[in-house]
Amino acid sequence: MTPALARSEVLQWLREENETRLDELWRLADDVRRRHVGDEVHLRGLIELSNHCERRCAYCGLRSENRSLQRYRLTREEVLDSVSQAVALGYGSVVLQAGEDSGIAAEWLADLLRRVKGETPLAVTLSLGERADEELVLWRDAGADRYLLRFETCDEALYEQIHPARPDRPGGRKAMLKRLKALGYETGSGVMIGIPGQTYADLADSLEAFRELDLDMIGVGPYLPHPNTPLGRQVESLQAPPGEQAPNTELMGYKLVALTRIVCPDTNIPSATALATLNQRDGRQLGLARGVNVVMPNLTPPKYRQLHEIYPAKACNFETPGAFDSHLRQSLAAMGRRVGTGRGDSPKRRAALAD
Ligand code: SAH
Ligand code: SF4
Repeated sequence: MTPALARSEVLQWLREENETRLDELWRLADDVRRRHVGDEVHLRGLIELSNHCERRCAYCGLRSENRSLQRYRLTREEVLDSVSQAVALGYGSVVLQAGEDSGIAAEWLADLLRRVKGETPLAVTLSLGERADEELVLWRDAGADRYLLRFETCDEALYEQIHPARPDRPGGRKAMLKRLKALGYETGSGVMIGIPGQTYADLADSLEAFRELDLDMIGVGPYLPHPNTPLGRQVESLQAPPGEQAPNTELMGYKLVALTRIVCPDTNIPSATALATLNQRDGRQLGLARGVNVVMPNLTPPKYRQLHEIYPAKACNFETPGAFDSHLRQSLAAMGRRVGTGRGDSPKRRAALAD
């Protein structure tokens, strides 16, 4: 049985600072992780397809108005090279991530998906922002398996301020997640932690929303200010009431990971790059010990990696993918964990089949 958490307990944990008491939360999350998803850690190769973006999210360095960023878009051959590396390293899936970029033409991507799905055993996850419904249908038909789209915060007023809407795509991200589910995608979402103006209560609401949306994957990570964004330059109007602002710290990152594992035990939870950025030495291991069961090694061609600057100093392994892979396998073995085999499909679906 998974211990259910009342909202008041969630709020208490979110504010908890005592290390000894927090050890109890880490133990609880690790225990739920072990019983529900086991010791396997699934590896997904992250391929950052493009850093072009047509949106103006106030928090993100890829926003269209950041003119100081050199833009890139991978060629088909570059993507296929990265896909081959994922296969060679024995990964079960790849994640194709990008800004909201209509330069990634729907048919171009559909062709690529058919090729990857026809020639490899990989599961393919897309993370391309709020694309049109007919594109989502086309890509699903071409073999895409999963889609990641964070809803970022449950606070609608805050969301409107930091995420200017696209008039041609009404309905917002939560509606799109439901649509993705109906199309048969495994769906993933998540939030940033400690956005200016975001309260502890909003994080408790987000955990509740994770459960209600019945997600297959949940990614959470601290908000990291980018100096070339309006939010990074601080928007004075975004202020939580005194004592209510959720901090954007590494510790809050672990708390959210642990609480997510407890609230949604049968979910794939990746190690957030933002945590590895805040603590380059131990961030990944600490996440793995507190609820995480997925790691996404970066397979973007090295010359583009620094340009995918969602926030500054984003952790990206500059070693070769092979060197990073053996380092990762060693550190997993030292933690008593093993690399997952197969595609690492949603544990939720496996749990449902076993019922
Ligand atoms: N364009 C796609 C995917 C790339 S952005 C999309 O928006 O879904 C992926 C995620 O990066 C976003 O969902 C957001 O949660 C995170 N992100 C963006 N800016 C960030 C920042 N300054 N700090 C931390 N995370 C950030
Ligand atoms: Fe574009 Fe995604 Fe960044 Fe928003 S969060 S600006 S959609 S890359």
